[in-house]
Amino acid sequence: MHQRSGWGDPNGLGQGFQALVLTALLVGLGVSAGLPLSALPEMLLPLAFAATLTAFIFSLLLYLKALVAPASALAPGGNSGNPIYDFFLGRELNPRICSFDFKYFCELRPGLIGWALHLTSVETDWEQTALSHPLCNPQVLINLALLMQEAELRGSPSLAMWLVNGFQLLYVGDALWHEEAVLTTMDIIHDGFGFMLAFGDLAWVPFTYSLQAQFLLYHPEPLGLPLASVICLINAVGYYIFRGANSQKNTFRKNPSDPRVADLETISTATGRRLLVSGWWGMVRHPNYLGDLIMALAWSLPCGVSHLLPYFYLLYFTALLVHREARDEQQCLQKYGLAWHAYCQRVPYRIVPYIY
Ligand code: NDP
Repeated sequence: MHQRSGWGDPNGLGQGFQALVLTALLVGLGVSAGLPLSALPEMLLPLAFAATLTAFIFSLLLYLKALVAPASALAPGGNSGNPIYDFFLGRELNPRICSFDFKYFCELRPGLIGWALHLTSVETDWEQTALSHPLCNPQVLINLALLMQEAELRGSPSLAMWLVNGFQLLYVGDALWHEEAVLTTMDIIHDGFGFMLAFGDLAWVPFTYSLQAQFLLYHPEPLGLPLASVICLINAVGYYIFRGANSQKNTFRKNPSDPRVADLETISTATGRRLLVSGWWGMVRHPNYLGDLIMALAWSLPCGVSHLLPYFYLLYFTALLVHREARDEQQCLQKYGLAWHAYCQRVPYRIVPYIY
């Protein structure tokens, strides 16, 4: 299959985390040498505009590149013949130059690193050299810059700012540490690479996923230790479910005989692949989304309840995951037919046990 060729290069995996660490080191050196990082928050609007323009021009080039791509390289969804629709969804599945895969790179590196180091925030994979070059992930600076500006304004970063930065850095670090897992996501396997993903990766993620830290800079929120501990616990529970569910499925998909998953109950499908029906995947049909949403709540709570803005991510992300879950169900139904029906009967809830 076109989209898989070249992905399996073991030298390319795990480098997202290295890129994050290297970026952090270089930023640290830059700051100690006098880099005025705290000036960055003032420039967020023009930077967001520049990132959007970059995503637009990049998508235009990708659209033109797809005109000369072989039919086997095209995505099923982005080739309707309507240029605006196809430009938006993306015509080519995994556009590349030599072994540099643009979508794999953009999904995790610039967006995620940009967000994480923004407060001190996550998304995909480029070629080796491009990935490890710090200039490839400039948005990493956003979260850190907000934290530093708060320290300048108020003497030290607030506990709420530390929590938001810490939680989001954990999320980004986790995504980059488990970078190879992105290869089995819908974005990589099914969706073309067009404006939707390019804009999401380069502009949307770094600039909107950091809204909580942006909010805290202008609306300081006093946070006591007891409440902070409860919020940490909520984030830990979310992370435990999110990581447990994602790792269980990835381990099972890589090697169903792995002792960590070999005892789990499964349903056979006509394709030869099996579906887990116990463990995390026996609780709801998307336990990883549940964990992700619990973490999203924990990222907003340090900002208090006086304003809706810090809860934008939670609301937007709930809508995104509900829609994504419906798309995935549709695809699984097509793939697995009767076996998927049997799974749905056995595990009736989609994301939240006994509720949805
Ligand atoms: P999933 O990791 O949930 O993968 C869905 C696929 O898993 C299905 O298509 C099917 O594929 C397989 N599967 C489903 N049920 C079972 C089962 N019972 N047993 C075995 N395999 C099963 O999809 P996503 O790519 O949507 O999500 C990956 C992670 O990324 C999630 O944690 C999500 O929360 C997160 N995410 C975060 C975003 C953000 O902006 N922060 C955005 C989107 C996602 P197959 O059978 O072919 O293997």
